[in-house]
Amino acid sequence: MKNRYGIGVDAGGTFLKATAATPEGKVLCSLSTPTRPDLGPKAFVASTAELVERIEKRLGGRSPGLCVAVAGDVDVQRGVLRRSPNLESYEGFPLRKALQNGLKRPVSLHNDANMAAWGAYAVELKRKLPKVLVLTMGTGVGGGAVLDGKLLTGATGTAAEFGHMRIYPNGYPCNCGAHGCLEAHAGTYGLRRTVGELLAEKKSTSRLRNKDFTPKDVADAANAGDNLAKEAWRRVGRALGLGVVNLVYTFNPDAIVFAGGLSRAGALYMDTVKATADAESFRGPFGHLKLLIAKRPDLGSVGAAVYALDA
Ligand SMILES: [Zn+2]
Repeated sequence: MKNRYGIGVDAGGTFLKATAATPEGKVLCSLSTPTRPDLGPKAFVASTAELVERIEKRLGGRSPGLCVAVAGDVDVQRGVLRRSPNLESYEGFPLRKALQNGLKRPVSLHNDANMAAWGAYAVELKRKLPKVLVLTMGTGVGGGAVLDGKLLTGATGTAAEFGHMRIYPNGYPCNCGAHGCLEAHAGTYGLRRTVGELLAEKKSTSRLRNKDFTPKDVADAANAGDNLAKEAWRRVGRALGLGVVNLVYTFNPDAIVFAGGLSRAGALYMDTVKATADAESFRGPFGHLKLLIAKRPDLGSVGAAVYALDA
């Protein structure tokens, strides 16, 4: 008998990636094509349908469902992308309905970090912990929550936008227009700004000076003993730690999983995150909490594929 599989589509601004995975999260096939948001939402629906067709031709059988994960604010009930900086031309278009009509099967549309949360809960942690939160650490910081085995979407589909929790009053400007959001201090642009400020305020001999540095450069510098780079990661850890504290008081989770590109540098800031959480007086929830770094880099797409079977 053929493997039963779901298909998750990760719709980024540059690439559209479709992943077929078993209910346990074993990836059977993964194909991608340029997204081309400039061609509008109908071209997106056609490209997605083509990827699904190619996967099914290759694997045989038919996936019972499809889940599309996008970076942005998703109206989950209507299946409409409300706001997305990378996929502006799709905003307001009835994506889910068009995909359902084209593919003749149930389709769901979700925020990509929410799907990473599903991947963390269902695949990485094998559904053993019922209350799992995720922080996806990239340019911005995304969030997702699975509570009692259910994906939290909120009243309008916007729940778990943890990157926009206010951490510092009068903090750094965030891409959302506010100040002091978690992502403005712990996303890649927050990290760059932190390094920039440290370079401006200190007469240090950091190797990052006069360099158009990437997050990897800051990680390499810290690992090589560069004090300014180490301080930058401590500040990222401090912002994340305060975010974790707020999340624990709100959700009392079993685990918070750090995923995404900047989670690879977790060793440079996790001690600070833990120290910040450990300083809280409520020992019950903080003693219970597991802070984990995702082992798999593809939690969003594999989470969407598995969710396509669970939804
Ligand atoms: Zn913000």
